[in-house]
Amino acid sequence: MPTITDFNFQDKRAIIRVDFNVPLDADSNVTDTTRIEAAKPTILKVLEDGGSCVLMSHLGRPKGVSPEFSLSHIVDTVSEIIGVQVKFVDDCVGEKAEAAAGNLEAGEILLLENLRFYDEEKKGDVKFAEQLSKLGDIYINDAFGTAHRAHASTTIIAQFFEGKKCFGTLLAKEIESIQKVLNDSQKPVTAILGGAKVSSKITVIENILDKVDHLIIGGGMTFTFIKALGGEIGGSICEDDKQELALSILKAAEEKGVQIHLPVDIVAADDFSNDANTQLVDIKAIPNGWKGLDVGPKAIQEIHEVVMKSKTILWNGPLGVFELESFAKGTIALGNSIAESTANGCFSLVGGGDSVAAVKQFGFADKVSYVSTGGGAMLEMLEGKTLPGIAAMLK
Ligand code: AMP
Repeated sequence: MPTITDFNFQDKRAIIRVDFNVPLDADSNVTDTTRIEAAKPTILKVLEDGGSCVLMSHLGRPKGVSPEFSLSHIVDTVSEIIGVQVKFVDDCVGEKAEAAAGNLEAGEILLLENLRFYDEEKKGDVKFAEQLSKLGDIYINDAFGTAHRAHASTTIIAQFFEGKKCFGTLLAKEIESIQKVLNDSQKPVTAILGGAKVSSKITVIENILDKVDHLIIGGGMTFTFIKALGGEIGGSICEDDKQELALSILKAAEEKGVQIHLPVDIVAADDFSNDANTQLVDIKAIPNGWKGLDVGPKAIQEIHEVVMKSKTILWNGPLGVFELESFAKGTIALGNSIAESTANGCFSLVGGGDSVAAVKQFGFADKVSYVSTGGGAMLEMLEGKTLPGIAAMLK
């Protein structure tokens, strides 16, 4: 796997695909700088070698050129975080962009305008990718969040940099962490899958059954399994058409010797709100008119015991409706257990939009081994797919 440590960037201009798709408030201020900070090590390595950086990214989902999605809004924030005054050019290809890139001196950074102002970016247009490729000598991909897309700047561009392309620090770490869980793991390996639906995680479950010793199921997807097993789930979320699938997963797990842990008790509520009435019930006996919104104390204890004896942990998806304080206990308890197990030497990887939000919100981000930045990209890797952005670098 070619990484930035394989290159010396002295007098070279690196064109770096970063993921600066950051949230902005109504006044276009950056409200979460995580993604910019994540790109810092790669940018600094190029600058410290005596090179310059051309940074390219998308921001939001613009339809054509739309000022609200201009990357000019983030120039000051990027400058502050990197510690260098970043230059900006209001296009990402063509004469203007080429002139701005050509004028860069060692130690300087240029940020290009939003790639998605051009439809060609998402279409993976080869000519557009070739135009982008003119802006740098060496191509670095450091955007894990878009590595599963065959876009011009994430994949197609790589063909113009034979022997002169590599993964940035962030992307390399993402790949290594997922490999560590999937192919290089210390046993026992435990996967905890939560979130709303079975359907969005099904391929992941199928792929990881061969790699894990324990599979803990939580969150909304639990109830499809419980109903398929003949339980009463009241008004809990359920995908009726996935019941057969749920049963086939349980059978496959049994054949492969994977222990499946479904929560034994559940906090049921009469409304989807913080001040709903609640009762603790057996997962297979949820009364009509009540819905399961969080795992109960017995389930939390069982999950804790499995997590504490695990040497490798993968966590994707919350165990309950953690956005509502009344139903966040299970997710918080799981975070605590994983933090404790990690402190004891286990490797823990957390990924998927909502679990990342949960670990940040509850302060676990520094207590797990790695927090993945790319929800969709991570899921696709866990599904066993080869991501186009990664494959293009290895060609
Ligand atoms: P996902 O994007 O599939 O990981 O799903 C995350 C969402 O699942 C979060 O917004 C949670 O509120 C939701 N969720 C977790 N547990 C439940 C549940 N028991 N019932 C309904 N939604 C849930």
